[in-house]
Amino acid sequence: MASTCLFCRIASREIPAAIVYENDQVLAFLDIGPVSEGHTLIVPKVHAENLSAGSVQVAEAIMSAVHYLAPKIMHAVGAAGYNLGMNHGAIAGQEVMHTHVHIMPRKEGEPRSFVKTHPSPEVIMQVAEKIRSILR
Ligand code: 5GP
Ligand code: ZN
Repeated sequence: MASTCLFCRIASREIPAAIVYENDQVLAFLDIGPVSEGHTLIVPKVHAENLSAGSVQVAEAIMSAVHYLAPKIMHAVGAAGYNLGMNHGAIAGQEVMHTHVHIMPRKEGEPRSFVKTHPSPEVIMQVAEKIRSILR
């Protein structure tokens, strides 16, 4: 699975991503099609198709990373809140079959859109740097 799964390939650094954080169990990187500035994905380093397919330790590691990262990401991009999202199964809109949580920061005065945008790689790297600088 690791060789064909997109998020396993990002976790193994085979495919580049705007990584903002990692620990032994999870990796966090910016979504390539963000619905808001700072839209971040947290994925476990071990492959699990969805939350229930992985161990409870993996589920805890994902939520622990949300607890740590979400306030810092909000602060980095000047947001006042955030949406968390997890899609389970194609019927629910899951496109990448490696479990992940979406952190979608929300700023005052901005529409709460779930429509993907397509910023340039340079803009994505600038946003990642803003977040990384808060985490240093
Ligand atoms: P899902 O619909 O499975 O919950 O979300 C998958 C997310 O992965 C989508 O929001 C999509 O924009 C994002 N995504 C798809 N391919 C890539 C990629 O190659 N790199 C990054 N950073 N994000 C991706
Ligand atoms: Zn995987």
